[in-house]
Amino acid sequence: MAKARKRRESAIVVVEGNGELTEHRQAIASQDRRLNFGDRWDYAPAPESNSYIKLRPKYPLFINGKFVAPHSGKYFDSINPATEEKLTEIAEGDAHDVDKAVQAARRAYETTWGNLPGRERGKYLYRIARLIQEKSRELAVLESMDGGKPIKESRDIDLPLVAAHFFYYAGWADKLQYAFPGRTPRPLGVAGQVIPWNFPLLMAAWKLAPALAAGNTCVLKPAETTSITAMHLAEILAEAELPDGVVNIVTGAGNTGRALVEHAKVDKIAFTGSTDVGKRILKAISGSKKKLTLELGGKAANIIFEDAPIDQAVEGIVSGIYFNQGHVCCAGSRLFVQEGVFRQVIRKLRDRISTLRVGNPLDKNTDIGAINSRMQLDKICELVDSGVQQGAELVQPPVRLPKRGFWYPPSFFTGVTASHRIAQEEIFGPVLSVMTFRTPEEALERANNTPYGLSAGVWTDKGSKIFKIVNKLRAGVVWANTYNKFDPTSPFGGYKESGFGREGGAHGLLPYVNLE
Ligand code: NDP
Repeated sequence: MAKARKRRESAIVVVEGNGELTEHRQAIASQDRRLNFGDRWDYAPAPESNSYIKLRPKYPLFINGKFVAPHSGKYFDSINPATEEKLTEIAEGDAHDVDKAVQAARRAYETTWGNLPGRERGKYLYRIARLIQEKSRELAVLESMDGGKPIKESRDIDLPLVAAHFFYYAGWADKLQYAFPGRTPRPLGVAGQVIPWNFPLLMAAWKLAPALAAGNTCVLKPAETTSITAMHLAEILAEAELPDGVVNIVTGAGNTGRALVEHAKVDKIAFTGSTDVGKRILKAISGSKKKLTLELGGKAANIIFEDAPIDQAVEGIVSGIYFNQGHVCCAGSRLFVQEGVFRQVIRKLRDRISTLRVGNPLDKNTDIGAINSRMQLDKICELVDSGVQQGAELVQPPVRLPKRGFWYPPSFFTGVTASHRIAQEEIFGPVLSVMTFRTPEEALERANNTPYGLSAGVWTDKGSKIFKIVNKLRAGVVWANTYNKFDPTSPFGGYKESGFGREGGAHGLLPYVNLE
């Protein structure tokens, strides 16, 4: 007892910003303590080398196993969003190129791939997976240069998952009957696949691996701002000696995607991107026999209960919204904190985001890289302005942003109400909207009060509470005491305006087969 009292009364020595030691007679109250490393704990630059990266001056299309110039002869610039420097030129495919690609895919389906036994298809997929692993570092660097994401994410998350998806579906290729017991799965034919810019190679893997495992052939349309790694994947497909036409990659803008979606000889469309374009695709193919899966936007609720492990929850909030600059469809972009821990969570979150390092995506210490494009940066700024104008309070740490390139600091809003645009619309940037709740029922009602239903997070010490809440959340994926964890064996997809159909796991095979 006496010892405890002595400790409470003893002086605390604090190292001030100027390096001097100050003795504080009274202990700093826990709610006033802050992490403050000043600027003395800086990191030395740790840039990943990109001197060995060989970018072609121009990337043509990949059709029928060959690299071919686009019909229009047109190319557009692909820039590095961290420097605004031109990296290369990408072919602008048009309806004529899409038609050539679909015809090549159809021929390959009818003459080779569609008739190949599953174990042979599996061998190709394993080969592709191993080649991706071999070239993983180079692909990670390219992904960071082209899209702006931090190298530690592209190297440690994107690329391992890309290879894992090919490995996983390679394993299914000769076991499809076990995925659908009592039924006979048959491939659909030609799959048209349109992907976004936030996880360029990973989205290509999510689309191609299950389609190929199930015996389909593919035409892939990468996003305009991030086509480079898709073309390097084409080189890997050629190196793996994948039969001509099994995978075709047609780069271009939205019109190229539309031409693919509307092509009469495509049997299935798989799309990941905005809800707006998803709706347009749904309209465009209604009345046709095309199968469709849509993986669209989200506005996920990340719910922190009072009994949650708060430090871990704060890390979960950070990885939920600041991972990949918040360019994540399942980002935990609406944070619901139970009132009793609100102050504590906000204080810790404010301190934590001031330690996040924003800058060169190729630096291994960078936590937040470049915003993918000027267009996306404008969208983030516009939505943040709307939040301020509608009365929410913006919290941003003081960060020095590079002069060139597209950047946005990690930010969050408090004082957000359900009617604010920042609580309703997908910002798709490193900006979090924080709200509070009192009871689990209120948390559920507010979490489900969104047109989206892709993902959610729950943080609590009580397993029974997790099950109770998870069962009532209208979201395709719910993480408990963690966030943004991905695995090829686990299905992913949404409800409501977040789309339909599942990717990943045995579920991810279903959209690519007819069951007899
Ligand atoms: P889009 O939905 O426009 O793009 C996704 C893909 O679809 C791209 O390859 C795009 O090509 C292509 N595309 C565009 N228009 C059509 C069309 N009519 N028919 C077929 N394909 C088409 O997303 P954006 O890149 O424009 O981003 C806009 C917003 O969408 C973001 O701010 C974000 O909120 C949200 N978004 C959500 C994603 C998610 O995973 N949920 C992913 C990406 C964006 P191109 O790249 O040439 O435009």
